[in-house]
Amino acid sequence: MSNCIENFSAESFIVAPVRDLPKSGIREFFDLVAGRSDVISLGVGEPDFTTPWNIRESAIYSLEAGHTSYTSNAGLPALRKAICDYLGKYYNVNYDPAHECLVTIGVSEALDLAMRALINPGDEVIYTSPCFVSYPAEVLMARGVPVPLVTRDCDNFSVDPAELRKLITPKSKVLLLNFPCNPTGAIAPEAVLREIADIAKENNLIVITDEIYSELVYDDCKHVSIASFPGMKERTIFLHGFSKAFAMTGFRIGYVCGPQVIMDAMYKIHQYAIMCAPITAQEAALEALKSARKDMLRMRDSYWERRNIIVHGLRNAGLECVMPQGAFYSFPSIKSTGMTSREFAEGLLKEESVAVVPGSAFGPGGEGYVRACYATAEDQIIEALKRIKRFVAQNSK
Ligand code: PMP
Repeated sequence: MSNCIENFSAESFIVAPVRDLPKSGIREFFDLVAGRSDVISLGVGEPDFTTPWNIRESAIYSLEAGHTSYTSNAGLPALRKAICDYLGKYYNVNYDPAHECLVTIGVSEALDLAMRALINPGDEVIYTSPCFVSYPAEVLMARGVPVPLVTRDCDNFSVDPAELRKLITPKSKVLLLNFPCNPTGAIAPEAVLREIADIAKENNLIVITDEIYSELVYDDCKHVSIASFPGMKERTIFLHGFSKAFAMTGFRIGYVCGPQVIMDAMYKIHQYAIMCAPITAQEAALEALKSARKDMLRMRDSYWERRNIIVHGLRNAGLECVMPQGAFYSFPSIKSTGMTSREFAEGLLKEESVAVVPGSAFGPGGEGYVRACYATAEDQIIEALKRIKRFVAQNSK
């Protein structure tokens, strides 16, 4: 008996793709920040705004009215209708709320459902990198093969279609896009997106498009969804949610729209694994679509102002920085300092108490950069920039 216990290894029970998965590089870095109140954080990727009041009030009202039940598995019909109306109006793509729309626990769940519904072991998923840390992890957990398509600052971190073509093999199945992009803030110009759509059609790829930052685009940019191009709706899984544009990260509401057969497959996983998103948060999300557009635009304008301040300040500190056209991240190059992105981030934290995320945490193409999120109070950004300038001046080799 004791022999059996000695030989017991809990780790041996864990499935290989999960056992071998590294922990998120962002979290690992933020363990270093935890508990330090003196730190200015340009680290965490979430709005610094509290959710607009009318949205919070609708959540309170929902509870007050005793709405405490499950909803239909796919989500409240009124919310699905409002989502589909919204996508028709602002994204030029029309989905049927009854069969082509599913409300999820954030885009995180939507992404997981899409991977689990589409990937057979060994299927290749091409994704732009540097990227949101969950992408390669989700592919690996679904037993797929992540294939990074590295984007570069000389292309404003957009996709080079010729590079994409080179990565396609008979095993390529999915192309995963995220514009505006976390961590680079890049958008894909419409002409590039059209070329990508043609490549997807020629090579019979399914496109998953994560458009979670799509309301947050700046200057003359107009967000265009790849799903709106001819022949694309039928091969595109569209992911979006309320976390970023409506400052609702804690409500955990996202959605996925796509062709009915794939939606049916994702619906089954969602039904058995999740049941439904919480009713309180769904009612709040409905209110966001009904009445919070003005608040959303006000927050976007504020990010735009802060983007201008941070990019100007980073360049002034001697760091090259592409002007991000969307989301709320800047992604300056720190190559001129001679440090790795991790050395830079750790040194900046230690010497100047400013937290940024090493670009290497975002996968291939991220080394040589750091991510500085500007969803932070303006005076904090200005102070952080002063400290970054001092740090760069003192540490450049
Ligand atoms: N996609 C991207 C690109 C993100 O940056 C994030 C959050 N950082 C998510 C998806 C997940 O968002 P949520 O689950 O809150 O909707």
